[in-house]
Amino acid sequence: MSLRVLLVEDDRLLRSSLRDALSVEGYDIRTAASLADARAQSQNALPGDLIDLVLLDLGLPDGDGQALLTELRRSSQIPVIVISAREAEGQKIRMLDEGADDYLVKPFGIGELLARMRVALRRRGHASEPALLHYQHGPLAVDLRLRRVRLGSQDVHLTPTEYALLARLVRQAGQVVTHRQLLTDVWGPEHTEQTHYLRLYMGQLRAKLETDSADPQHLLTEPGVGYRLAEPDVIH
Ligand code: CA
Repeated sequence: MSLRVLLVEDDRLLRSSLRDALSVEGYDIRTAASLADARAQSQNALPGDLIDLVLLDLGLPDGDGQALLTELRRSSQIPVIVISAREAEGQKIRMLDEGADDYLVKPFGIGELLARMRVALRRRGHASEPALLHYQHGPLAVDLRLRRVRLGSQDVHLTPTEYALLARLVRQAGQVVTHRQLLTDVWGPEHTEQTHYLRLYMGQLRAKLETDSADPQHLLTEPGVGYRLAEPDVIH
């Protein structure tokens, strides 16, 4: 059965080009051109006809897409990817902290959108895939069950904090995690302003895990927003 995607986008041309491109990939696309339309479609979905993922534009004729995200998150963990022309860092952070799975700034390539959709669907445990416990990207392998990190055939020794930071990123591999989310989960909610902790520990992790810390391949920076662990090669 194909996955159902609700595309909320008021730009007619973009809506039809995305619908066509995603249909070719086998997704079943529903479209909405306004907040009201999107609400009707997400609330009136019948059991067995549920939507699997939402692509959400922010600037809509009858309001801001953020309102729909907030409403959805009260009752649902459905993956939501924001697609917007607004690239302000504050906006991205707000949407991610509100529970968006990811954020793509227009214009974006269809390949990138498909990759983000795959990651978001996997993270929500679609098709009853188990949560990611083993991460592999190139020579880097992280086993969360064994708490083991390897680079090629070598074990890598990490401090407990370095490991906690890496494990947090592995749990959301392929998705951006905001500074605030990382600080809250690794150091605790009283440390959300201590972004220098993150810079320090990310530097240490990169020194241990990247061939060239200045050109990281695994631990990617989302400027002003957070970090993203590269999408894994294979899902175990
Ligand atoms: Ca718009």
